[in-house]
Amino acid sequence: MSGSAGQLEKAIARNLRNVRERLARACERAGRDPGAVRLVGISKTFPASHVRAAAAAGLTDLGENRVQEALEKIADTADLRGITWHLVGHLQSNKARRAAAAMAWIQSVDSVGLLRRLDHAAAAEQATPRLLVQVDLAGERTKHGAPAAAVREILDAATACGAVDVRGLMALPPWSDDPEQARPWFRRLRELRDRLIDAGAPPACLRDLSMGMSHDFDVAVEEGATVVRVGTAIFGRRAPRPAATTAS
Ligand SMILES: *Cc1c(COP(=O)(O)O)cnc(C)c1O
Repeated sequence: MSGSAGQLEKAIARNLRNVRERLARACERAGRDPGAVRLVGISKTFPASHVRAAAAAGLTDLGENRVQEALEKIADTADLRGITWHLVGHLQSNKARRAAAAMAWIQSVDSVGLLRRLDHAAAAEQATPRLLVQVDLAGERTKHGAPAAAVREILDAATACGAVDVRGLMALPPWSDDPEQARPWFRRLRELRDRLIDAGAPPACLRDLSMGMSHDFDVAVEEGATVVRVGTAIFGRRAPRPAATTAS
């Protein structure tokens, strides 16, 4: 191993330890079992070497927000065993087949049409991806996600799907550097889940809540997150993406 690879492994292992400690403390405050929260490391913009370092430090779940970048990194790390890949970004329907074949989780389902397309694609690929419905809680038109009022329809359509496994809800609240500003949004996602179950939506489709990122996952865990998506706190600061690319 080269010196710089060793340095990278050390830095990522240290970051991961810190994240796991924060996670454990948040679970303790909330009286929750740390084993009930899945930590997904978001490796977008970082090369495969970072994925390897995180895997060497024991991280098993990795996420990307663009299909093409995800497919390349999955191919570059195909020799690693036991990695579960998540797609956490918007999915165009013309990439549904490739995503259904390659991703274990797709956290960005936001319409009945995309759900059905993924189910057909998964069946054709003999894949059984887990899906989350992304909810646009704040009505931010700049972001993707289904309006809260449309979630029930998607869950009802899920009961007719044979290949995909719809597991719950995902949200990306309006950004604030103060984690407490995110708390009401996390609470709102949990309350939406509870209301849907009370109204008769299938509970098996509402087991997971994916919410919380590097600076606010502690608060998300206090509010019931079962999946947290952590990039910067594990991999470091991302360089800005080139402005002109439209690829995803
Ligand atoms: C990039 C990204 C994250 C991770 O963000 P950090 O602030 O770096 O932890 C989480 N969720 C989604 C959907 C993302 O695109």
